[in-house]
Amino acid sequence: MSKVHNPRSTLHALAPLGQGTPDVESLTSYFCRLAFSHSMTAQKLADWVLERFDNAMCEKYGWHQRNLSSMSPESEQWAAWLSELTGVGALDRHTLSPWRGILGTPGLAPKSDRWCPCCLAEDKTNGTTPHLRLSWDIAPVDVCQRHKVELTSTCPHCERSNVRNRSTIVVPGYCTSCGGFLGDAKTEPASPEDLWVARQVGLMLQEPPKVASHGLVPLLETVIERMADGRPSNFASRYGFSKSGISHWLNKGGIPSLKAWLTIAGHGGIGLDRLFAGDVEGWEPPLVPMQLPIEMPESPRAGIKSRELDWEHIRAQLRAMLEEPEAISVNQASERLGVDRKNLYLQANAEARAIADRYLRRRAARGEQRQTRLQSQIGEVLDERLAAGYEGMSARDIWYRLDTEAQSVPGIFSHIATVMDSRRS
Ligand SMILES: [Zn+2]
Ligand SMILES: [Zn+2]
Repeated sequence: MSKVHNPRSTLHALAPLGQGTPDVESLTSYFCRLAFSHSMTAQKLADWVLERFDNAMCEKYGWHQRNLSSMSPESEQWAAWLSELTGVGALDRHTLSPWRGILGTPGLAPKSDRWCPCCLAEDKTNGTTPHLRLSWDIAPVDVCQRHKVELTSTCPHCERSNVRNRSTIVVPGYCTSCGGFLGDAKTEPASPEDLWVARQVGLMLQEPPKVASHGLVPLLETVIERMADGRPSNFASRYGFSKSGISHWLNKGGIPSLKAWLTIAGHGGIGLDRLFAGDVEGWEPPLVPMQLPIEMPESPRAGIKSRELDWEHIRAQLRAMLEEPEAISVNQASERLGVDRKNLYLQANAEARAIADRYLRRRAARGEQRQTRLQSQIGEVLDERLAAGYEGMSARDIWYRLDTEAQSVPGIFSHIATVMDSRRS
């Protein structure tokens, strides 16, 4: 396999923490650490990134109002921008955006910023940079599954809340109001029910879901089939859902909330990780109702799994594009592969940046070449006219004698003027 030329990243290639574990760091936390590593305020870094990608800015808009770790397309966009700038791929794994197609928004965002003081204290004693976990930004999670304690939301020193990251300058783990260490907070032991929820969400966060949004209905049909003999109304009354809610999921593109998924997982005796992977083949809920072995209509499972992209293959294709004589842009590569530009930066970061770098270099070189060719053409016309005895020529006289391609170059008159000046001196 040929090695890809890895252009220097614009921002530090800061390593994100906890990827692939239940303790995965949030993008909000990564962003604050990145700003800190550049001795910049988080606000400044946010403004700089927006300006760089030509995004209109609203002056009064604080960076922390953006919620970089959520499920929104905006969070995914920020992950892609930061991947492009740092050269660190897959930063969307530090947001909830991979779950957008299968998790409903209601009840997902907590009302205030929370944290586990024991996690922060442990980071400090372990010599790890204190960082914020993505699971703390998921409302149904109220406890830390690792330390088996409740999450807390007030500073132990000044007793204020929302002091975790809502400020211009943020050092994760320290109060934005008084500067005290948030890991000093006292907390209560967690209840077994809350621990179960935290564990389920932890399993979910370990890897992105494999069920695509178009596989959601077949998955829900399987769930209803196994848990209520395929009868939506029984399913609704048995597990406390509204009938209209179920019909919304099955017929109108509705998406179950995390709480609804937890209800299904709890009663169905199946982990969220298995559900979101569409891994329901051998699954039997614990209370199987008496049933005659009747022939099932065709399995509703078909189509649950998503079209998984083969990234090894895509990366190889990108590397092949780098060997082509003509340099192409990332947009062109994305079009040719039928893969979103954002995803290229997230999943094939080094290759995407190498393509962008090569394209920019080529374009700059071509611009220079064109300039030289143009100037020599102007020079030839000028020398010819001078040799024929024409004095006092205007730039327009020269322009009439250039070919149409040269005539259409932007700023052509200033190019002519430059050449004329150089001949005079
Ligand atoms: Zn903890
Ligand atoms: Zn404080």
